[in-house]
Amino acid sequence: MLSPTSREILDNLQATRPYLDFGQVIDVKEFDPSATSIGSSKRIILVSCYSPRRRIVSEEYRDFLLIIQNSYLLSFVSDIASLAIYHQSHRTPELPAERLRGGFSAIAKKFAAEHMESIASSKVSRTMFLEAVQHIESNTRYVHDVVGSESNLNEKLTVFLRYAISFIRFHEVGHLSDVDHVFRNMILPDVNQFIDAIADHEFDKYDETTLRRELLSDVFSLNTCFAKFCSILSEETLKNFSECMIDILTALNALYAASEDAYRLNVDEAFQGSEIAAEFRHWRYRREYLQNYITGFVFDDGTLRCRAEDDIGVLTEHPEIFQTLFNINKIVDPLTDHENRLAQIFEKYLNSEDVFTILMQDFRVTRLLSD
Ligand SMILES: [Zn+2]
Repeated sequence: MLSPTSREILDNLQATRPYLDFGQVIDVKEFDPSATSIGSSKRIILVSCYSPRRRIVSEEYRDFLLIIQNSYLLSFVSDIASLAIYHQSHRTPELPAERLRGGFSAIAKKFAAEHMESIASSKVSRTMFLEAVQHIESNTRYVHDVVGSESNLNEKLTVFLRYAISFIRFHEVGHLSDVDHVFRNMILPDVNQFIDAIADHEFDKYDETTLRRELLSDVFSLNTCFAKFCSILSEETLKNFSECMIDILTALNALYAASEDAYRLNVDEAFQGSEIAAEFRHWRYRREYLQNYITGFVFDDGTLRCRAEDDIGVLTEHPEIFQTLFNINKIVDPLTDHENRLAQIFEKYLNSEDVFTILMQDFRVTRLLSD
């Protein structure tokens, strides 16, 4: 009997499990692990989609692993990277760092507002959304046009996004239980040593197990990305892109937790959602381990050799990205008094959930990202 195609597998999943909402499916294809050092007995199927409500990026089944490449989440990475790249090349006294921070904060606020709206529509999230889009439309929308039209900036963004997509994909592949035992045995003692040294009485057995599992996949993904990109990037750029990606991922997950917390504090105190302290602990430790791993990784003849130089270059605004995005108080604080006041006024007229849903969709710029 012929085994089903990846499209047939997806069709079958959608028919039998309607709760698996993939939004708009753009592409389905098989990922061939034999091209990499990954050994897997499972089929790996990549689904490219655009789904604002989907947070999970993989589903494991008995015979296959589904990796979901959600352009909605990748758009967040793309927006942050575009803004950082634009500012790096256009920095003048008229374009100070505050403008960059304001732009990052607006992207974070919009993301948080959309997540809060997906829980339930509220005055708080509608106001946050209206405030964020005013800022984005007038301050950062043109950035995408400039980055898209200047070839060196566009290339930098493209390579960074390819790195981002690869990192997320290899992280999920790394969760497959039959991936490379040699690698696991090699890296496990170091991960365990890090976890054992955590002196935090709130950090329990469950946290430990989760952190260990995620770190193993993260390191697997970093190593695979190093191998994939070392032929086109210098060590400096490759390490910088890796650090940026870890920071953006940490911030993205902190934003989910922070928006659920903001929802609980401002809208419904009975809302369960994620536990912000535990989420923050997890991501703080994860980031700390991975940043050290990246810094300490030695590229040489025994491991991997990077290009001596590249034309892509590092993202110099990297520290700003993390500091601003991780400053989660900002998601509820006004960006500017003016934008906040206008948002309050507009919200009075746009408080029907249906109208607001349409408005949110109209402000969405769908950038379909693929590698
Ligand atoms: Zn994971």
